[in-house]
Amino acid sequence: MSGALLEVRGLTKHFGGGAHPVRAVEDVSFAIQPGEVLGLVGESGSGKSTIGRLILRLLDPTAGSVRFGGDEIATAPERKLKALRRRAQMVFQDPFASLNPRLRVRDIIGEALDAHGLARGRRTERIGELMETVGLPAAHMTRYPHEFSGGQRQRIGIARALAVEPELIVADEPVSALDVSVQAQVLNLMQDLRARFGLAMLFISHDLDVVELMCDRIAVLYLGRVMEIGPAEIVTARPRHPYTQALLAASPKADPDAPKLSRTLKGDIPSPMAPPSGCVFRTRCPYAMPACAEVVPPLRDAGDGRAYACILDSLPSRPEVA
Ligand code: ADP
Ligand code: MG
Repeated sequence: MSGALLEVRGLTKHFGGGAHPVRAVEDVSFAIQPGEVLGLVGESGSGKSTIGRLILRLLDPTAGSVRFGGDEIATAPERKLKALRRRAQMVFQDPFASLNPRLRVRDIIGEALDAHGLARGRRTERIGELMETVGLPAAHMTRYPHEFSGGQRQRIGIARALAVEPELIVADEPVSALDVSVQAQVLNLMQDLRARFGLAMLFISHDLDVVELMCDRIAVLYLGRVMEIGPAEIVTARPRHPYTQALLAASPKADPDAPKLSRTLKGDIPSPMAPPSGCVFRTRCPYAMPACAEVVPPLRDAGDGRAYACILDSLPSRPEVA
């Protein structure tokens, strides 16, 4: 798609060599337009964090292309990545591990500002502005991370990401480590910042309800592959892939007594070192047929802005619960 801020094509990451590498990410393609929020949802181990890291080149891909603003970064040399890191930033899952405990917040945010080369007085002023932007008193910039709550630390992580005035934020489960009571506050903040700064985001979560709330479009990941991708309201109202249907059926929002996903689907998630042939979801799919073992289903255009990777032309509206 022309004009895309981020364009990922055939992205693949295998960990370890030999006959059985961990196939963490397999042939993943998607695009994010300027100002757009794409949600990446999937169970633990489905490859979400790996995709986030590949996009920022915190990891080198095994294969595939990552274009940011038209520039290829999958193979770019280190000096070119500096420019990328001014335009794309990460917000990490764990606000305890991701802030250096020995630095004052002023210096944590200040480090990120150094790329801008501000004069000293202006730098302190800017750190205060960033604190206030994320809902923290500027006066608290002299404190250390341990003097803040989990939610406040995540706000500091967000302020640090905003310091370079990025166009894209990769937010990897930004509220998963927080108390439920503060999750909504941090999500609200991220929505406000998105609107205020026109930020694009790759918003990673294992929670379909959170992704639906936060995102324009959703990509559903299973064993490193995209099962379905499309507008959030279409994917969640009329899921077309059996795996998306199962995720939705297990959502407590749809039904407070919904059975857990592990009870909705038969068997366990296969090892990414030995994924099933053909459709990787087929061993847990209620509709699997022999043909599903033959070929990897390509993403098919459903004609409503969404694409899905399933060879079946139609499905019952809900998967059977075992
Ligand atoms: P998610 O974020 O969806 O939980 P990850 O991207 O963290 O998934 O992991 C995907 C798969 O890759 C998992 O099987 C995980 O164990 C494996 N993996 C992730 N990082 C590494 C690594 N550095 N070395 C080996 N395997 C890894
Ligand atoms: Mg992860």
